[in-house]
Amino acid sequence: MATAIETDDFDAPEYDYDLFVIGGGSGGVRGARMAAATGAKVALAEEYRYGGTCVIRGCVPKKLLSYAAHFHEDFEDAAGFGWTVGESSFDWTTLIANKDREIDRLEAIYQRILDNAGVEHIRARASLIDRHTVQVGDRTVTAKYILLAPGGRVSFPHGEGWEHAISSNEAFHLEEQPKRVVVYGGGYIAVEFAAIFNGLGSEVTQVYRGDALLRGFDRDIREGLGEEMAKKGIALEFNVTIERIEKLASGLLVHLSDGRTLETDAVFAATGRTPNTDNLGLESVGVELNKKGAVAVDEFSRTSVPNIYAVGDVTDRINLTPVAIQEAMAFVDTVFRGQPRAMDHSNVATAVFSHPPICTVGLTVEEAEKQYGEVEVYKSAFRPMKHTLSGRDERSIMKLVVEKHSKKVVGLHMLGADSPEIVQGFAVAIKAGATKAMFDATVGIHPTAAEEFVTMREPVSS
Ligand code: NDP
Repeated sequence: MATAIETDDFDAPEYDYDLFVIGGGSGGVRGARMAAATGAKVALAEEYRYGGTCVIRGCVPKKLLSYAAHFHEDFEDAAGFGWTVGESSFDWTTLIANKDREIDRLEAIYQRILDNAGVEHIRARASLIDRHTVQVGDRTVTAKYILLAPGGRVSFPHGEGWEHAISSNEAFHLEEQPKRVVVYGGGYIAVEFAAIFNGLGSEVTQVYRGDALLRGFDRDIREGLGEEMAKKGIALEFNVTIERIEKLASGLLVHLSDGRTLETDAVFAATGRTPNTDNLGLESVGVELNKKGAVAVDEFSRTSVPNIYAVGDVTDRINLTPVAIQEAMAFVDTVFRGQPRAMDHSNVATAVFSHPPICTVGLTVEEAEKQYGEVEVYKSAFRPMKHTLSGRDERSIMKLVVEKHSKKVVGLHMLGADSPEIVQGFAVAIKAGATKAMFDATVGIHPTAAEEFVTMREPVSS
C-alpha cells in the first residue's frame, strides 16, 4: 500500500479531469458531486442506471415492497380496535408498476444532482488503461485521480437447475407473484424477501444451511426473528442445503441435502454478493485485491496505486449505502480539501427489514466478551402495546450489552416494529460513548417501545 497522500494541486493541466469516477451508485455519485463542489473537474461513468444497487435494485425498491407486505397484518390488526375492513385484495402488477415509477423518479434526481454539480456523466462502461487513463465507451480520457465505485453483484449458487432460480434482481421485475416460493439463504436479502413474499400472500419456505437466521447478529434476536417468522407462516428449514433444482410442468422441484423435496413456483436465492472487480483493468494497472477478492484499500480508501481510490461494496468493508457515502466524503476531504480523514467504521448501525424488523449497533454479547472480557447484558422481551388490542402474538426483544468496568454501552439490539427508526437515535449515543448511567438518567418517552432502552435496570447476565 502506498504511504503518502497526494494532495498537490489538482488543476494540473495535463489531465482531462481532476477526478474520474467509475460507478454511479451512492458512493460514486456522492464522491463526484462533493469533489466537483471543491472546484475540481469531474467525470463519472455508469454503464447501467444512476443510483446503483441501493436505488435501482436494492434498499429502495425492497423497502417499498416491504411496506406493501405489511398491509395485510394492518388490516387484520384493525379489527381489535373496532374497525371492520372490507374484503381486501392485492395486485402485484400495480405494486411493481408504482415501484418502477418511483425508481425512475429517483434515478432522474441522481442525474440532476450530477448535472447541478457540474459533473460530466457518461453512460458507458469504463475500465483502466493505466493509472491515469480510462477507456470509457469509445473514448480514452485521462484523470489525475480515479475513484472506483463499481459496487457488487449477486453471487449465485452453481449446479444443476440453478438456471431456473431467481435473485433479488429478477424478483423486482416478476410479471406475476409466485404462489409458492423457496427462499435460499439466511442473510439480509433472504429474510427480507421471505417477509415480503409472505406478507403479500405467497406460501414461503426458507432453506438455510445454519441453525438460526442472520449469522453474526445477536443470538436472542436471531432466534426471536425465527420464531416470529414461523408464527407468520414461513416454513423454516435449517441445517439443510439445496442440492439441485428440477423443472416440472407444474413448477420446480427442489431437492434438499437431507433427501426431501419441495415443490414450488420460484426459487429465490440470496447467498451473498461479490465485488465488481472483473474487466476493470485493475490487474494491468496494479490495483491489488484482498483475500476476499475485493479492492484492497487503506484507511483513506486508497488502493495500492496512490492516485486510485475505491469506496463502497467493491471494497467489501461494510456493504451499506450510508457507509459508501461516508467513505466517499472522507475521500473528498482527503484528496480535494487537503484534510486527510479516515472514515470510522466502528459502531455502524444496521437494519434488516424483516417482519418484524431488526436493528442493531455495536457489539453482540460474544463480540463484547471477546473484546472486553466481562460484560453485563440487559434484556427486555415483551408484547408491544398495540398487540394487546390487536391480539397478534408478536413479541419484541431489546438488549443492551454493557462493558463491566467502564459501564459503557457497547452493543444495542432490537427486534420489533420500528426498530430501525428507534435505533438510529440510540446509535448517536453509542457513537458518543454513552454509559449505562447516562441511559438510566435519560427519561423515557411514554408509552413507547423505545423507552425500554432507558428503563432496563437489572442485568439478566453478568
Ligand atoms: P449475506 O451475506 O447477508 O447472506 C448470505 C447468506 O447466504 C448467508 O445466510 C449465507 O450463509 C448464505 N450462503 C452463502 N453462500 C452459500 C452457499 N454457497 N450455499 C448456501 N448458502 C450460502 O448476503 P445477502 O446476499 O443477503 O446480502 C448482501 C449484503 O448486502 C449484506 O451482507 C448487506 O451488507 C447488504 N444488504 C443490506 C441490507 C440492509 O441494510 N437492510 C439489505 C440487503 C443487503 P452463512 O450465514 O452460513 O454464511
